[in-house]
Amino acid sequence: MKITFHGAAGEVTGSQHLIETDGRRILLDCGLFQGHRAEAYQKNSRFAYPPESLDAVFLSHGHMDHCGNIPRLYSKGFRGPVFCTSATADIAEIMLKDSARIQEEDARYLARKLDEKHPPIEPLYTEDDVTGVAKLFERLDYKEWHHLGDDLKVRFLDAGHILGSAIIELKIKDRGDWRHLVFTGDLGRRDLPLLRDPETIEGCEILISESTYGNRVHEPAADIKEELYQILYEAYRVEGRVIIPAFSLGRTQQIIYYLNDLYNENRLPHMPVFVDSPLSIRLVSVYRHHLQDMDDEVREVMEEDKDPFGFSLLDYVSSRQQSIELNKRKGAFVVIAGSGMCENGRVRHHLKNGIEHVETTVVLMGYQAAYTLGRRLQQRDPKVKIFDRYYQVKAKVIQLSGLSGHADVEDFKWWYETSARRGNIGQVFLVHGEPESATALASLIRDQCDLEPIIPQYQQSFEV
Ligand SMILES: [Zn+2]
Repeated sequence: MKITFHGAAGEVTGSQHLIETDGRRILLDCGLFQGHRAEAYQKNSRFAYPPESLDAVFLSHGHMDHCGNIPRLYSKGFRGPVFCTSATADIAEIMLKDSARIQEEDARYLARKLDEKHPPIEPLYTEDDVTGVAKLFERLDYKEWHHLGDDLKVRFLDAGHILGSAIIELKIKDRGDWRHLVFTGDLGRRDLPLLRDPETIEGCEILISESTYGNRVHEPAADIKEELYQILYEAYRVEGRVIIPAFSLGRTQQIIYYLNDLYNENRLPHMPVFVDSPLSIRLVSVYRHHLQDMDDEVREVMEEDKDPFGFSLLDYVSSRQQSIELNKRKGAFVVIAGSGMCENGRVRHHLKNGIEHVETTVVLMGYQAAYTLGRRLQQRDPKVKIFDRYYQVKAKVIQLSGLSGHADVEDFKWWYETSARRGNIGQVFLVHGEPESATALASLIRDQCDLEPIIPQYQQSFEV
């Protein structure tokens, strides 16, 4: 059996791993490379194998760096089944449509700006490609083994990373022998709101494992609700607005869930909360539809409160007009809007209008990449550029960092020790991590594995 790492090798985006046996050619994930525009376009636009030669694709979850390039695969001729959980199918379709729309808009914008010497920039795929590939999605339940022919079985275990995320466990026949391979996708954490804890495995021969935070310890998620309460209470007292830039998938739903909890406890200060993001609204409806895939705590809440994503002070804002009206609003209120790093989306309008007021609070919830507006706010730059002009930062900026969806050192230790107790772990390949964190994880888990963990390079192949 041969494994080739076509992405997320030595980096954290573009997850794509090819498994070849004597009878099958299957792909684990087909994610987008993100980063420098020209380099990312180069890697995303070409495949190192003919897409039509693949038998099937398995998707671990609906984040773009794991599923975001699958419409490109479709546009280049792939017509096989795409296996994933039901929630992942729903999330991926929404996220991919949004990605296609942004790419088509970007291409039009760049076509206007570039002179004739530059070739036009094409989108990687269109909304039609997304519609086409979504018809290939085959939804499989968690936990059960699914037989996909005489030589292939699959089981999805909960990865606890985002709604629908799966650890993919494959049994695949090669030259008459059954081989046992597990792909973690992105491994979540224990005790995250809404999500079940990641499941462990009963050992395996080959394990392809993420390693994003193999060298980091996160703050506990449990404190975030109390911190939000303090922030809202203070804003209510000074009659200021609270702007929460948040990723539409996952983070926004977690924040709404916490605020809903505070509301149920009669502790939410009497101020309106607006979710100003059409993408988030579409994703909240997917969350409402897949409540059975969430943790027991959600079900307990639902015994008293049928809708954990709605309360009387909460308003979902979809029209542009309503969004603009929020800018003129006086008094205390909360607005949650994308994007999480403030680089695009409606949150930039809210920041532009609120950031020069001392009563405003900006709450940054996650990792802020270098050179983004979010990073400039995080490092307390005295003035920041939004659209075409500079604004003085007079608002309070607070960073809350307990909601990362990725396993940290403690989670990895727990997951590997528990899994290794249940069965032998053979050859591990560490992907989806910068070299330092992959190396740190290799030493952390070495004693739990039969063989020395390998950190593959981009497009490197291994016979296993
Ligand atoms: Zn992910």
